[in-house]
Amino acid sequence: MRNEFTAEQWADPELKPAATQIRKCVHCGFCTATCPTYVVLGDERDSPRGRIQFMQKMLEEGGTPSHEAVHHIDRCLSCLNCRTTCPSSVDYARLVDKSRAYIQENYKRPLGDRFIRWLIASVFPYPALTKVMLGLVPLGKIAAKVIPMGRLEVMMKKASAPRGPELLTKPEKPLKRIAMLPGCVQKAVMPQIDAAASRVLSRRGIELVPLEGAGCCGALSHHLGREHESQEFAKKLITAWEAGRYDGVFISATGCGGYLKELQHVFPGDAEWQPRAEKFAAAFVDFVELVPPTIVTPPQPLRVAYHPPCSLQNGLKLNGKSEALLAAAGFTLTPFLESHICCGSAGSYSILQPELSNTLRERKLGNIMAGTPDVIVSGNIGCIQQLTDGVPVLHIAELLDWAEGGPRPDVMK
Ligand code: SF4
Ligand code: SF4
Repeated sequence: MRNEFTAEQWADPELKPAATQIRKCVHCGFCTATCPTYVVLGDERDSPRGRIQFMQKMLEEGGTPSHEAVHHIDRCLSCLNCRTTCPSSVDYARLVDKSRAYIQENYKRPLGDRFIRWLIASVFPYPALTKVMLGLVPLGKIAAKVIPMGRLEVMMKKASAPRGPELLTKPEKPLKRIAMLPGCVQKAVMPQIDAAASRVLSRRGIELVPLEGAGCCGALSHHLGREHESQEFAKKLITAWEAGRYDGVFISATGCGGYLKELQHVFPGDAEWQPRAEKFAAAFVDFVELVPPTIVTPPQPLRVAYHPPCSLQNGLKLNGKSEALLAAAGFTLTPFLESHICCGSAGSYSILQPELSNTLRERKLGNIMAGTPDVIVSGNIGCIQQLTDGVPVLHIAELLDWAEGGPRPDVMK
């Protein structure tokens, strides 16, 4: 597509990846059909093509972004479904990531919005702080009855009770040692997922070794446009991983995994950290890559709706693997319409864009429940929390662990 980037802008290593993708877009609009926000809103400005026009104008002209541009770019889920239908192979991630960072640097949001974003970036990456905040939720809910709290109320409604740590299981004679990232929110509220994953993997001779010195992967900060913070988180991870010898690196949340698989893009033009991040990204393995389909007899016959996270489909590109594992383990899959469309969780999106997130959630649950499943399974804590509403929702590691003789998951009791 025609563009007005100057020679100086093309020479900027932080802008060049986005400018390159803008130039590739031919405005055909094929991507609109797979964009969840366009599907539910029908507004070109909430489609990938519409957003690309806002991004181009904003990045070419510089200065303060318009309210309209920020509004429509903020509504993007970063689900990357648009990448799957683009005949020009436009890598939309490079565009939306740069645009978010640009907005963060050059646009002054209303005070309440800045506060919520600061709160998310300051608390959720740290499990201890997350637990403290979750402990305050009952008090906050009482206060919310007298003081309107806007999106803080949304946060509280979505809050899960914190849980104590769970032990990882190790094989007696490990065949492989995989570095496991500690995670952040999941560690505070669903530690049972990593415990289940460690049991499944230890049966296959794989030891998960917690990566000392690493913290949050930085995806939350990255998606808020807080580039410097996400780079600092990434440097800690990479340094910790380089200090040991492992057969791979793992996290059981695909939302983090999809981000880590492209970690090199967090350091555009950085001669030291980009290659180090690239090696780290190449070593990343998801749970479904480590576990071959294994035929077992499950403890009870179950109809399972598998919800593939966008990060698994469009980031890690591991379509179909989870379904093969569940079918081999003896479960009956209940396919449903629009499985490729985002559930509306998308990291902090469900807090920042509650109405749109809820519309997508209702649509997703409507499609899933048409198949009358006994249980919903996914691979990402965000999706699991988003879809929890009556029918039990489990991480795939929890269900496979139970099928192979592990403990019955709490939500199935
Ligand atoms: S499908 Fe690709 S080339 Fe066509 S409008 Fe969308 S991003 Fe641009
Ligand atoms: S990332 Fe998802 S929500 Fe954003 S433009 Fe692409 S398809 Fe639409």
